[in-house]
Amino acid sequence: MEDCIFCKIIKGEIPADKVYEDDRVLAFLDISPINKGHILVVPKEHFENLLETPDELVEKLVLAGKKIGLAVREVVRAEGINVGINNGSAAGQVVFHTHIHIIPRFSDDGYKLWGSDKKYELGEGRELAQKIQEQLNN
Ligand code: AMP
Ligand code: ZN
Repeated sequence: MEDCIFCKIIKGEIPADKVYEDDRVLAFLDISPINKGHILVVPKEHFENLLETPDELVEKLVLAGKKIGLAVREVVRAEGINVGINNGSAAGQVVFHTHIHIIPRFSDDGYKLWGSDKKYELGEGRELAQKIQEQLNN
């Protein structure tokens, strides 16, 4: 993936402040942090997003993310950690190489994740849940 910025970081073609590396996974500081210590955990192999990433690699990414989250929480004394993955541009994905955001949070940091006033009509939720359940069983 010649144009992928994270592939370039993995190949050492552009710099990054690395915090963790093993044979399959690399983690480095996000260049534009929500809070200081915001980290991206990426597979060394290019996949577009989580939904395209093989299960065994997802396991490794999530386990690395947890370990890194514990370390970041300690170092920046975070009160909480958001772990997030954007999949698709409609979901806010900008870099199309799978990555997990590990974001240290503080109760007074003013960052709002999301809120909603949407509601299901009577019976709508159950119908939708059934459809998803059927899709999962396909
Ligand atoms: P997303 O919106 O989930 O695709 O997030 C992409 C993230 O990559 C953003 O938070 C950017 O700040 C971050 N980012 C983009 N380029 C770099 C880079 N060269 N080094 C570190 N982080 C980057
Ligand atoms: Zn890539």
